[in-house]
Amino acid sequence: MKERSDIAVVGLAVMGENLILNMASKGFTVTAYNRSTDKVSKFLAGRAQGKSIRGAFSIEELVASLETPRKIMLMVKAGQPVDDTIEQLIPHLEPGDIIIDGGNTHFPDSNRRTHYLEQKGLLYIGTGVSGGEEGALTGPSIMPGGSPKAWPAVKDIFQAISAKVEDGTPCCDWVGQDGAGHFVKMVHNGIEYGDMQLICEAYQIMKELLCMSADEMHKVFADWNEGELDSYLIEITRDILGYKEDGEPLVEKILDTAGQKGTGKWTAVSALEHGVPLTLIGEAVFARCLSAQKDERVAASSVLSGPQPTFSGDKAAFVEDIRKALLASKIVSYAQGYVLMREAAKEFGWDLNYGGIALMWRGGCIIRSTFLQHIKEAFDRNPELSNLMVDEYFVEKLMSAQSGWRNVVATAAQNGIPTPTFSAALSYFDGYRHARLPANLLQAQRDYFGAHTYERLDRPRGEFFHTNWTGRG
Ligand code: NAP
Repeated sequence: MKERSDIAVVGLAVMGENLILNMASKGFTVTAYNRSTDKVSKFLAGRAQGKSIRGAFSIEELVASLETPRKIMLMVKAGQPVDDTIEQLIPHLEPGDIIIDGGNTHFPDSNRRTHYLEQKGLLYIGTGVSGGEEGALTGPSIMPGGSPKAWPAVKDIFQAISAKVEDGTPCCDWVGQDGAGHFVKMVHNGIEYGDMQLICEAYQIMKELLCMSADEMHKVFADWNEGELDSYLIEITRDILGYKEDGEPLVEKILDTAGQKGTGKWTAVSALEHGVPLTLIGEAVFARCLSAQKDERVAASSVLSGPQPTFSGDKAAFVEDIRKALLASKIVSYAQGYVLMREAAKEFGWDLNYGGIALMWRGGCIIRSTFLQHIKEAFDRNPELSNLMVDEYFVEKLMSAQSGWRNVVATAAQNGIPTPTFSAALSYFDGYRHARLPANLLQAQRDYFGAHTYERLDRPRGEFFHTNWTGRG
């Protein structure tokens, strides 16, 4: 073991321990520390045994064990515990030392902490770490942001422990300043909400309208996973639909009430704050909220009736239309997520690497998919791309998916099957491709009741008019 450690990790719960083991397996020497030091002893005597891992039983010991500049990664509970730990570390650190927060932190906290620590001559990284416990051990997607000067010092470690795409490219690169890493991780989580809800809608249509069994749907998802929808979430859906308990599909025995930890909500709130129509992720969050109102839904189901789903067409052709609806809606979801990142970058002055972000999500995380490679290529073609939907590759995909997508949304509506994200995606697509929307009438209404004024098509932009709509004085 080296005389001094390359890095320290504070927080020996599941994520911290697994990241330490990952780092040690890549040849780094790591100091392990935890507030309750009995966990340090336990770790050293257990999973850390025989590896390049040393324990520290005090902050002083932790700091003294590190080569300079010191790199200390916090894997503690998000929120106040991060601030508390930072305060404990500060008196022992020297200018240029780096504190890294790898927890599920809300990005404004990382903005604040970066400025706070830079004022003290220290460097800060707030990094998204995705992939859960398993990813932390075997290779997560890592999205670091914060003090740019800190990146060269941690780059080798982060890129060594991260997931890799097929050609060996690490799923980790510098995202941007301040809280940019945690912002991008938040959008990743929002996109995860959207991807999951889209798959759930495809499942509900297949089940209720096409009356398909879990085995039949299992085969459809297996098939989809071989094509352009190839992704972790399609793959696990295939496996879930094939899983039996006492000969019956387990999925049908699970209560239809979804939980959430709040990162989807953060993404939707951020979109509202930035004025970005992030409709698909918003609907995905609301779909979970509606699912949680189980008792009310059960009561309403006997009061509010709708059409009895019936299907008499070509089942295989309709399944292909559902695939197209899923692909097109997914394009819309990522397009919206990228617009949100672009608007946040403008507001916060971040120089985001959009293609690089798609690559960071290519492996190690829940939304990993081959689809992301096309996003990377779109930004390679045009780094200033305003909306993914107008990139040549995605234009072609949307055009060829369009009629199937419309058929699915319309047929589901006629049969009373809810498709909040398929429909939201289609409405956004139709709104975005309309040169003229009915906001002319909206402006007239605003001017009518509030004298908010309007601009005219036949006059230069920036000239405002007011009409006395009633003729009254
Ligand atoms: P956790 O349960 O979120 O946190 C436990 C750790 O936080 C323990 O080391 C605990 O120390 C420490 N801690 C709690 N309060 C503290 C305080 N006031 N001061 C100092 N330390 C304090 O652990 P985790 O599940 O491994 O997650 C770590 C971070 O990664 C979290 O931000 C989590 O949201 C994020 N994350 C988790 C996952 C996952 O799959 N679990 C995935 C991605 C990201 P004691 O032992 O002394 O209590």
